[in-house]
Amino acid sequence: MAPQTHTTDLDAAAVVDRLRRTFTTHRTTSPEWRRGQLAALRTLLTTHRTTSPEWRRGQLAALRTLLTDHRDDLLAALAEDLGKGPEEAYRTEIGFTLHEIDHTLDRLDDWLEPRPAELPERLLPATARTVREPLGVVLVIAPWNYPLQLALAPLVGALAAGNCAVVKPSELAPATSAALARLLPRYLDSDAVAVVEGAVPETTALLAQRFDHIFYTGNGTVGRIVLTAAAPHLTPVTLELGGKSPVVLDPGTDLAAAARRLVTGKFLNAGQTCVAPDYVLAIGDTAREIEPHLAAAVRETYGADPAGAKEYGRIVNERHFDRLTALLDSGRTVIGGAHDRTTRYLAPTVLADVAPDAPVMQEEIFGPILPIVPVPDLDAAIAFINERDKPLALYAFTASEDTKRRLLAETSSGALTFGLPVAHLTAPELPFGGVGESGMGRYHGEYSLDTFSHTRAVLDKPLV
Ligand code: NAD
Repeated sequence: MAPQTHTTDLDAAAVVDRLRRTFTTHRTTSPEWRRGQLAALRTLLTTHRTTSPEWRRGQLAALRTLLTDHRDDLLAALAEDLGKGPEEAYRTEIGFTLHEIDHTLDRLDDWLEPRPAELPERLLPATARTVREPLGVVLVIAPWNYPLQLALAPLVGALAAGNCAVVKPSELAPATSAALARLLPRYLDSDAVAVVEGAVPETTALLAQRFDHIFYTGNGTVGRIVLTAAAPHLTPVTLELGGKSPVVLDPGTDLAAAARRLVTGKFLNAGQTCVAPDYVLAIGDTAREIEPHLAAAVRETYGADPAGAKEYGRIVNERHFDRLTALLDSGRTVIGGAHDRTTRYLAPTVLADVAPDAPVMQEEIFGPILPIVPVPDLDAAIAFINERDKPLALYAFTASEDTKRRLLAETSSGALTFGLPVAHLTAPELPFGGVGESGMGRYHGEYSLDTFSHTRAVLDKPLV
C-alpha cells in the first residue's frame, strides 16, 4: 500500500500546549473536587492532575475497555494494513497490550511507593527515599509493523507514570492509525492524550516542540533525526531500533525442535518483526542438517501453499516487497521463493549456502527470508557477530552450557535468548530494548515506568 500523503495543517504547538496545561493545572476540575470531597481536595490541590494513582489506574482501565470493546474493529484494521490473521493479530497486538496493562495495574501501587534509601553514617540522623514522578508531556512515535502494540505498550508506561502523551501512529498502517485516532480520545482523558496522524511533515512539526521524553520505535536513520530534534530541548529519548538479530546453531542441539521454533519466530507477521531471527549462523554440519527440518517446519506451520494460510501475513507495501524479492537470489532456495506483487505475498523462504557478503546479509531483512550462513566453529560465529552492529536480540540453539557461557561473556546484544526466539519480549519482567545501533533505553513492565518517570532523590534531616 502506498504511503498516504498529507497536507500539514497540524498546529503541533497547540496540541502540546494543551497537554502541558493539563499537566501543570492543579486538579480543581477533577470530579473529586466537584463533589467536594475534602480529603481528595487537599491532595489534589497540591498535585498535578495526571499524577494521582487514581487517574493513572483509570486511564489504564479505560484503555483496557477500549481494546475489549473494539477488538473486532482493531483486528479488521490490522488485517487491512498487514493481512494479519485474527489469531496472530490478537496475540501479538491486542492480547499483548492487555497483558501489559494487567501486569501494570496489578503492581502500580507497589511501584509508586517511595523507596527508602540507606544513608551514610555521617548524614545521620536523617531519612532518605526515592520517589518516581511523572516527566510531563511525552511523545510516542510508532512504526507500522506492530502498529497497535508499538503505539499502545509505550502509552501504558507513559500513563502509568502519570504523564500526558501525544501518540503518533505510523502512516504506513493507515487503518490502524485511523482507528487509534478515532478511539483513544473517546476512551482516555482527551485533555491528556492526543493522537496526531500523519507522515514526515506532521512528525517533523511535532519534533520541533519541546517534550519531556520522546519514545521512538523504528529505523536508525529516523532515530538519528529524532535524537537531533531532541537535543536543543535536552529531551531524553528512548530509541527502539532494529538490525540483524543472528541465531547461532550449535552441533548437538535438537534440530527438528530448533527448526520449528525458528520458523515460528521468523515468519510471524511475514518476518516483519524487529526481533525476528534475521539469519542463522550454522556451525559445521548443522548448516546442511537443518535444511530438511526447516522445510518440514514451514509445511507443518503454513501447509503446502502458505498463500492460502489464514495466519500468514503480507508485506506492508510495494516498496518493501520489491526490496525483499531482490534478495531472493542471495543463496540456494531450500523452501519458498514464491511471490505475487499484486497481493504482496512472499512465501516463507529459506536460503542455504549464503555468503557473508551476499545482498541479503547487508541490511536487516525485515521480511520472510531466512538465510543460513555456514561457519566452521563457535569462535567463527562469535567473531562474525562481533564484527557487526550489536544486535537487538541474539539467539542460540545449543545443548552446551559452555557455548551459553561464551555467548554471554563474549558478545553484546539487547537480549540473549537460548532455545526460543522472540519470546523474551512477552515477559514484562524483562527489559526490552537495544544497545548500540539497535537502540537506547528499555521498556515493558516496571522498566516502562522507569523510562517515563523521573526518580527523585529526597533527603530529610532534622535541624537539631
Ligand atoms: P516507519 O516507516 O513506520 O517509521 C516509524 C515512525 O517514524 C513513523 O511513525 C513515521 O511516521 C516516522 N518517520 C518516518 N520518517 C520520518 C522522518 N524523516 N522524520 C520524522 N519521523 C519520521 O517504520 P520503520 O522505521 O520502517 O520500522 C521498521 C524498523 O523499526 C525496523 O528497523 C525494525 O527493526 C524497527 N523496529 C524496532 C522495534 C523495537 O521495538 N526495537 C519494533 C518494531 C520495529
